[in-house]
Amino acid sequence: MELSKKNILSLIEKIDINNVKILNVNFFGNEVLFDVETNNPTLQSKKHIENTIKDILKDNFGSDLIFKFNFIIKKEDVPKKTITGSEIPGIKNVLAIASGKGGVGKSTITSNIAITLSNMGFKVGILDADIYGPSIPIMFDIADARPLSENHEGKNKMKPVESYGIKILSIGFFTKPDQAVIWRGPMASKALNQMIFDAHWGELDFLLVDLPPGTGDIHLSILQSLPVTGSVIVSTPQNIALADARKGIAMFNQKTISVPVLGLVENMAYFTPQELPKNKYYIFGKDGAKNLAEDMKVTFLGEIPLIQSIREASDFGHPASLQKESKISLTFNEITKKLITELVKRNKNMPPSEVVKITTMAGCSAVK
Ligand code: ADP
Repeated sequence: MELSKKNILSLIEKIDINNVKILNVNFFGNEVLFDVETNNPTLQSKKHIENTIKDILKDNFGSDLIFKFNFIIKKEDVPKKTITGSEIPGIKNVLAIASGKGGVGKSTITSNIAITLSNMGFKVGILDADIYGPSIPIMFDIADARPLSENHEGKNKMKPVESYGIKILSIGFFTKPDQAVIWRGPMASKALNQMIFDAHWGELDFLLVDLPPGTGDIHLSILQSLPVTGSVIVSTPQNIALADARKGIAMFNQKTISVPVLGLVENMAYFTPQELPKNKYYIFGKDGAKNLAEDMKVTFLGEIPLIQSIREASDFGHPASLQKESKISLTFNEITKKLITELVKRNKNMPPSEVVKITTMAGCSAVK
């Protein structure tokens, strides 16, 4: 292949590097000069970009090339100030994270989006409402913690437990780990109501609500008591999970509920073994959630592969996105930015969230 600007650019186009734009390429003899735009200023990321580009060019044009890189750091374009829409005093946006099925990674995605939002400078809380398997305390290494009471404006309020800068209340704080949670709707609703209204959350840009899987009564009671700004659906690409995710989307879209679905995340999209980094194995099927998003006219927020370190990080109580320069963290960054973009659109086009007023429970049977 001849060493030319066109050939260099077409080779670089083929490689998979996140958030990188080649602004200019010049070469003098065997010296190639790049102006590269990226939004990640870390040395590790720059080295990764340099090495990826060098490798592909040396493979194609010979190893005697000399490279020079000039990095231009693009400022984060997160539209912070435009987020509005408040009903609970102090809490700007309530986002429900839902899934049709259990075990698809809803809590994992909730944890990592929360960390990513916090890394972007937002104030974030998580309300773990998953009565069937409250896993947020383990994922944030606070399984043994219990919320304390504090006096706020003359009233005793529950103080959320803080971990990695995220304020957390979980239904898991009120049950023993070995106790089967067979709470009925009303009991769970009462506990959730206390965690929402008898707690002192303070100022939050985002309260993420980790819902139980499915589309049951508990969802309705949460949606009845909370002004949910929007929802995010998590699914694996597997047919059996997608069928239930479809019901989840239908539940939020129901006229009587009308909580905007801001987007869909495909989790466990594929598996790449460490020793074969170019291979992708579509264990649960390919693009299932992406196709569902298209079909249901919901924004596709992105995909997360099945990665051992994500599972390990969750079990260890240290969400993977805390490692800021990692590929996982960059992927969550992209997903979160898309989510914010959708939220800003929603807040521009719709009035602030209202608590859903469901007049009869019958309307819900259509989505069960
Ligand atoms: P859910 O909230 O939907 O029940 P969890 O978030 O608890 O699901 O995830 C179920 C299990 O799968 C956990 O052990 C979690 O660590 C693991 N897991 C979730 N997403 C991934 C992923 N992308 N790669 C590897 N393991 C994952």
